[in-house]
Amino acid sequence: MKNIAIYPGSFDPITNGHIDILKKATELFDTVILAVAEATTKDHLFDGAERERLCRESTKYLQRVEVTKFDGLIVDYARKVGAKAMIRGLRAVSDFEYELQLALMNKHLDSKINTVFLIPDYKYFYLSSSLIRQVVSLGGDVSVFIPTCVENALKERLLGTEN
Ligand code: ADP
Repeated sequence: MKNIAIYPGSFDPITNGHIDILKKATELFDTVILAVAEATTKDHLFDGAERERLCRESTKYLQRVEVTKFDGLIVDYARKVGAKAMIRGLRAVSDFEYELQLALMNKHLDSKINTVFLIPDYKYFYLSSSLIRQVVSLGGDVSVFIPTCVENALKERLLGTEN
C-alpha cells in the first residue's frame, strides 16, 4: 500500500521554505499531495487557481508530488485521497501554538490522520509568504527565497511589471 501524505496550506504564494518542507516530506512518503486551500480566513493576494498554478509550476521537477486544490475540512479531503498523514512546517517558536491547536483539532476530527511536523533549513526559518509579499511590494529583491515564476507573478501583481 502506498504511503500518502497531504501538505495543506494557503500558499499565497509558495516560497522556497514550503518547497524545502515538501522535498523533506517526499523522503518519508511515497506520494505527497500539496493541497491548496481554496477559501481560508485570510485575505489572499492570489486566488485559488493562481496559487495552485504557481505551486504546480514551482514543483513540476519534483517526483512523487501532486498539486491539488481543496475546499472544506482538510481531514475530509485527506480521507478522500487516502492520506494517513498531514505535513506541516514548523518555523520559529511562533508557529508552535497555532500548529499544535490545529493538529489537536484535526486529531479530534479524525484520529487516524496524524500530523507530521517538519523543520526547514535555517535559511528559511524566518521566511513567510506575507513577508515576501511585503518586501516585493516595496521593490526589494527576494529572488533567493522564491521560485522565478512566483517572483514574476508577484511583480506583475504588486508592481505592474514582470522583470
Ligand atoms: P496556512 O495558511 O495553512 O498556515 P501557509 O501557506 O502559510 O498556510 O503554510 C503552510 C504550512 O507551511 C504551514 O505549516 C506553515 O507553517 C509552513 N511554512 C510556511 N512557510 C514556511 C517556511 N519558510 N519554512 C517551513 N515551513 C513553512
